[in-house]
Amino acid sequence: MTAEPIAQTPIPDHNELFSQEVYLEQAARKREFENPCGSDEVARVADWTKSWEYREKNFAREALTINPAKACQPLGAVLASLGFAKTLPLVHGSQGCVAYFRSHFARHFKEPVPAVSSSMTEDAAVFGGLNNLVEALQNATTLYKPEMVAVSTTCMAEVIGDDLFNFIGAAREKEAISEDFPVPFAHTPSFVGSHLTGYDAMLKSILGYLAERNTAERTPNGKVNVVPGFLPSVGDLRELHRLLSLIGVDYTILGDHSDTFDAPVNGEYDMYPGGTSLEAAGDAVNALGTVFLQGDSTKRTSDFVGAEWSGKTATTGLPVGVKATDRFVQAVAEVAGITVPEAITTDRGRLLDAMSDSYAYLHGKRVAVAGDPDLVVGLLEFMLELGMEPVHVVSTNGKEDFKQQAEAVLAASPFGSSATVWPGKDLWHLRSLMFTEPVDLVIGSTYLKYVARDTNTPLVRVGFPIFDRHHLHRLPTIGYAGSIELLSRLVNTVLDELDRNASDISYDVVR
Ligand code: SF4
Repeated sequence: MTAEPIAQTPIPDHNELFSQEVYLEQAARKREFENPCGSDEVARVADWTKSWEYREKNFAREALTINPAKACQPLGAVLASLGFAKTLPLVHGSQGCVAYFRSHFARHFKEPVPAVSSSMTEDAAVFGGLNNLVEALQNATTLYKPEMVAVSTTCMAEVIGDDLFNFIGAAREKEAISEDFPVPFAHTPSFVGSHLTGYDAMLKSILGYLAERNTAERTPNGKVNVVPGFLPSVGDLRELHRLLSLIGVDYTILGDHSDTFDAPVNGEYDMYPGGTSLEAAGDAVNALGTVFLQGDSTKRTSDFVGAEWSGKTATTGLPVGVKATDRFVQAVAEVAGITVPEAITTDRGRLLDAMSDSYAYLHGKRVAVAGDPDLVVGLLEFMLELGMEPVHVVSTNGKEDFKQQAEAVLAASPFGSSATVWPGKDLWHLRSLMFTEPVDLVIGSTYLKYVARDTNTPLVRVGFPIFDRHHLHRLPTIGYAGSIELLSRLVNTVLDELDRNASDISYDVVR
């Protein structure tokens, strides 16, 4: 007996599906119902939003944010938690918030995201969420068998003033969890700060908590701690491992979600792949020192480590490009007390070679960039090394110190003289900037695809989130090797554009 062939039904993509008659009719009926103003008026206003006059009004707005390039605090806390082995993030608040964090990470990393909520609803908002948190801790530990639960909060829990310290204590009293089950926590009110504030608060809490639980005599362990901060690329973390191995130091990455978000398909679902082991994280207090890759996204953690742990600390900035990676390598070598090995010089030389290959195509290209403060500063430094000219520099969650840092980087190069730095501005501000002062390239997350299309500017996707392209989160952008990867994205985008605009005689095989 032969099996019946399976009928093949073609699956239309979004473009094809919504070009079908049934959907076109539906859209026309909807427009009729909405009764909008005429297309001439829409076109007139759309044109006006591209003008200098509109730009001035846009930059005068105070009470409204449109398309902020940032997420909320507990999202960052969830990522920090998932950097530690067998740790379940528990967000005290409503299910909808946690569904948003899970879907955001699942869309970016294309991986399942273990995170639970205390499922607060209206009654908890009125009477307090104590019972929800106690039940959530009991259910989550019984069902999902984590070795640590890291608790953060949503707006709702913060508005009513739920107190995690007391609630977790009550859960122990009620025997919902045992006396010694590890539950670090961080209050992460989303009406201030951003995902970076939440990442920082949770990382500080986890490191402080695990160090305190380590009651053994403090004995130097000969290791270097490396704190990557909010780094939404497993490729970056893998590159960090490679670079540290090349430097030849014994190290611990504090907050390593490289395997958490890059588990292999092998027929088994592992809820907790990877992460820094709790033992290694608890022993981090005994390290020779701690090197932070980001100043903004781990500020409180680095203040805490600097004040409480005995080793040296250094903050290098994201190692993107030559100078920044040199700083990182040097800082690690200094903390470890070793000489930088020859293998690093070779790695570095490959980046220099790649930069000189592409320099002619990138030199003088005008660029707009938007994203998290540490990422933007790292990208600026590399762009200037490539002879590119940053023009618009936007960071919604950047503050005055970001502005100063970015301006210092820009001032160090003649290619930085055209740039203006805009902390606290959103992507609607960026749209005005790019219409009034056009650029050749824009760099940032998926959310920049709208301004890229509106202004007909090619987009190089870097940062978080990237929902609409696959596997970029697997590719590094830091270290010498990661910078080559980033360089190839930049130059190949320019070359694609060159080909797209080439006349027949300029449509060359060799670039
Ligand atoms: S901003 Fe507040 S309500 Fe919105 S997802 Fe974040 S925590 Fe939830």
